Amino acid sequence: MPRILIVGGGYAGFYTARKLEKYLGKNEAEVTMVDPLPYMTYQPFLPEVAVGSIEPRHAVVSHRRHLRRTEIITGRVSDVSHKDKKVTIEVPGLAPFDREYDYVVVTAGAVSRTFPIPGVAEFAIGMKTIEEAVEVRHRILTNFDKAANLPEGPERARLMSYVVIGGGFAGIEAFAEMLSLATYLLRYYPTLKFEEINFHLVEAMGRIMPEVSLKTSHWVLKNLANRNAKVHLDTQLLSAHNGVVELSNGQKFESDTIVWTAGVMANPVAKHTDLPSDERGRILANPALQVVDGDTPIEGAWTAGDVAAVPDLTGDGVAGYCVPNAQHAVRQGKLMAKNLVAAIRGEGLKNYFHKNMGAVAGLGIGVGVFQYRNFAVTGFLAWLMHRGYHGLAMPMWERKIRVFGGWVANFVLRRDVVSINAIKEPRLAFETWASRPKS
Ligand SMILES: Cc1cc2nc3c(=O)[nH]c(=O)nc-3n(C[C@H](O)[C@H](O)[C@H](O)COP(=O)(O)OP(=O)(O)OC[C@H]3O[C@@H](n4cnc5c(N)ncnc54)[C@H](O)[C@@H]3O)c2cc1C
Repeated sequence: MPRILIVGGGYAGFYTARKLEKYLGKNEAEVTMVDPLPYMTYQPFLPEVAVGSIEPRHAVVSHRRHLRRTEIITGRVSDVSHKDKKVTIEVPGLAPFDREYDYVVVTAGAVSRTFPIPGVAEFAIGMKTIEEAVEVRHRILTNFDKAANLPEGPERARLMSYVVIGGGFAGIEAFAEMLSLATYLLRYYPTLKFEEINFHLVEAMGRIMPEVSLKTSHWVLKNLANRNAKVHLDTQLLSAHNGVVELSNGQKFESDTIVWTAGVMANPVAKHTDLPSDERGRILANPALQVVDGDTPIEGAWTAGDVAAVPDLTGDGVAGYCVPNAQHAVRQGKLMAKNLVAAIRGEGLKNYFHKNMGAVAGLGIGVGVFQYRNFAVTGFLAWLMHRGYHGLAMPMWERKIRVFGGWVANFVLRRDVVSINAIKEPRLAFETWASRPKS
């Protein structure tokens, strides 16, 4: 039986495996998926996880539960040697081992892209994983608890200052959601005042959200300004050393929470393969999702999603390639499965073609924007569209129901403001009181 090995079980990898289970006949091929995480993450929900509108577990999809015919290896691929048709896999507690394949599908996604700015690597946090989103929520709630006990002064101001770097879609959503939570929390903290909350968004370009029209982006800027947030356009972060934020517009202040959302880059695992990549580190693909050397497909090598440079045949792409987003990754994953099955059966391959469906963003409870070409919706209706679209786009009905159920529960019971931050030291209580042998 041909062996298919999928590197990465996010959007593109998960959908490839799921559709292969559907299309492949019994004993037609063996499918293995390798991912260091046992779940795929629905990343558009991260801003809502970061403010408690969605439970962290509800925003991820278990590989083992939903891929019953796929062999799952919870480990990290460290190397792909396509000339030998084998990958090297690292699993905690075991020596690295090799796994041979006939077809490799590289869908390892992207990672946060940073610049060598002092303090960023040590102090900032991304918004790319569920763990980061959970930490941001813990941080906001814990900082409010700490600040409420302090007299007004620099330490209280530091705890109440929040900075997001990057005014793209993910950054603005995270920023606006965090602002919405912080404003809501004030009702439980009578000693803290609205004017004390300092929210700064730093964007190097002259505008935010390039995915929407300029007019819509201005609407968002006005909405944020009305909510007491400061957006610094044409401004760069110069330093974040020890949480002291220095901006290129001369402003300097301290913050305990700096969220970095200024772009992504192809997963560096692409460099640990012998597959051709472009100057941005993306593996080169043709529209049928085969890895290519020039125009020639490399037999048995396939790629999709954020790690891949897939030509955008609609003409809407950036420099001719699909932009890194979930719309593409999901559809490429589905096509990948069809094309793999066709390749195994010796049938013809289909090209990837997807016209952008527009963009929808949630900006805190009751506020959103939707943009499709020149048509825009802003405010409450757009927020409903955001929740409706993403709630239904979440893979698997059992997950959709959990997400919608959580929203309904929050609507009826109000926002949940509990933070179990002590989970970071789960043994502390036990260890403190544990009896020890007399020395
Ligand atoms: C905050 C946020 C909001 C977003 N909102 C939207 C939105 O509204 N609409 C939209 O279209 N897109 C959105 N996106 C983008 C979208 O989530 C990504 O484009 C999409 O996840 C890409 O899918 P992928 O399969 O390529 O990568 P991913 O979904 O990131 O999956 C990659 C997988 O590879 C695994 N992996 C990594 N390294 C290895 C390794 N060495 N070996 C094995 N496995 C590995 C990872 O653990 C992961 O499971 C958003 C992203 C973020 C961060």
